[in-house]
Amino acid sequence: PPLYKQRYHFVKQLVSEHKPKKVADLGCSECKLLWMLKFCNCIEVLVGVDISEEVMKEKMHTLSPLPVDYLQPSERSLTVVLYRGSVAHKDPCMLGFDMITCIELIEHLEANELETFPEVVFGFMSPTIIVISTPNSEFNPLLQTVTLFRHPDHKFEWNRAQFQNWAQEIAARYDYMVEFTGLGVPPPGKDVGFCTQIGVFVRKYLKHVEPNICEKHQDHVYKTVFKVVY
Ligand code: SAM
Repeated sequence: PPLYKQRYHFVKQLVSEHKPKKVADLGCSECKLLWMLKFCNCIEVLVGVDISEEVMKEKMHTLSPLPVDYLQPSERSLTVVLYRGSVAHKDPCMLGFDMITCIELIEHLEANELETFPEVVFGFMSPTIIVISTPNSEFNPLLQTVTLFRHPDHKFEWNRAQFQNWAQEIAARYDYMVEFTGLGVPPPGKDVGFCTQIGVFVRKYLKHVEPNICEKHQDHVYKTVFKVVY
């Protein structure tokens, strides 16, 4: 399967291992990963965030319940919400998550956004598990079509050492453990690492989160663009 599907599958796999109830996808774009995760029965709250309302709206109807969902109501409740917002801004509705994914997001951030990202996602949102994927620039010479970056909107592409140093520094600062893996294996004899590099961060300490903490706050900066309760 194409690499983007492998990335979604990787997340789905992690979800079936860890059984998170509240999951958020940052930089959710056309909500493709969210659509897949809607079928994971452990999930009760599924949230997507993107800075572009237009791109989110294109396919968001795919997150709406189907006739079958009404005919065979399931035991679990599922709430799906989409917010227009930036990963450089803190909003209380992002508190209390079990898993947050950032799939091919960080390389699209401006320098100042990348600078604030760790404090927002690790420091403030502080979910139990964080998954970050990004291109591995060492693989680029094997991709014939790549000139500078794989996509014109990429602000940077990191090699393994750059990504791992960045990730390890953040993990240490915010008390997470991090493990590295990836998708897209290079041909034999080419020691360049995976095409997509992935860091999976797990918070070291339990954290008490007040239930309904989101409603109690006044200072919301994200805008709700879609909400459906199954
Ligand atoms: N995660 C998607 C996937 O794997 O299919 C694709 C991500 S797309 C390559 C990057 C997305 O990040 C875009 O939809 C873009 O609008 C969004 N984005 C860029 N800067 C952002 C920011 N500061 N906060 C939230 N989303 C942002």
